[in-house]
Amino acid sequence: MATSRMNQLVVMVNLCSSVVEGIEHLITSQGNDRLKEDAVSGLLTLEENLKGLQADKSVIHETRWIAEVIKNWLFVYDREFRDRLYRWYFKALKELRNLMFAEIEICPVCSGKGTVHYGASLYMEGDEAGNELLKPVRIFMKCEECGNYYLAKEEPWIIKRQKRAGNSLARCKRILTDIKRLASGNSMLFIGSQNSQLYKEAVSAGYEINALLGVEAISSMIKESYAVVMIEHLTDNRDMNAILDKATDCLADGGILWFDGPDLDKSMDLLEKKGSTLWRQAASEVYLTKEGTESLAKLFGLTIESRKQVGTTFRRIEIIAKKA
Ligand SMILES: [Zn+2]
Repeated sequence: MATSRMNQLVVMVNLCSSVVEGIEHLITSQGNDRLKEDAVSGLLTLEENLKGLQADKSVIHETRWIAEVIKNWLFVYDREFRDRLYRWYFKALKELRNLMFAEIEICPVCSGKGTVHYGASLYMEGDEAGNELLKPVRIFMKCEECGNYYLAKEEPWIIKRQKRAGNSLARCKRILTDIKRLASGNSMLFIGSQNSQLYKEAVSAGYEINALLGVEAISSMIKESYAVVMIEHLTDNRDMNAILDKATDCLADGGILWFDGPDLDKSMDLLEKKGSTLWRQAASEVYLTKEGTESLAKLFGLTIESRKQVGTTFRRIEIIAKKA
């Protein structure tokens, strides 16, 4: 569930704690200029970040106030100052926590607001103290704007199998045939693992391939035009829009983009039919729906050329889109 904004928030929580620790040191070793400068620069960094995240104005103001007071040696090492410091600290942490919750509620596809979408199958009985309770261990949200589903909470202990089963050889061959039918060139950008069956099949299909391992790699690459871009496990990333953005950038006009993702509605149907309470493998970050895929494509100037529902146990949706 890590987005760059969420990572920034985690860094800020840590910075708050280290700033307070630094000021505690400053209080015990009075007159230490280096400690003073560290505290001030930490606080100013926090202030700037809080502004950028459009945090509550009073928290921003108080962060600035503490920085000014320390910068100008305007504080006395007394209980009152310490109380004020900790009041600021807890207020800042609370605001950061609020921002984190808000981040979880935001749809990673369109930044719209989601509402909780779940089935009873996603609830487990009992906690470690033996109390009978129904506790959500995994929560999916449905975006009211674009209609896609996304993961808002997942207890790590429910996952027994981190890795999903790979694609079968037959499926990979069929995917490459589907792509070949629509693609007008031989150059391909493959975003995914070079150990995957899909990559191997793309090689045997005769494509000239440039392979990238993921978002980190894609952001540093030189822009080129490819006839085909394939993205493996796109919906496992909460920052999937960043990947799609770069991927469509790398597509030649009329180029073909392939990706797939799990079908939540079908998976839930199956769980209900089987009577099991929960599937025990890691969930994807995003689950595309039909109308959700359409609005996603629109967002990136793509038209959907083909949409297939495949698989029996965990149904997947395969999309081939074309850059206009
Ligand atoms: Zn959305």
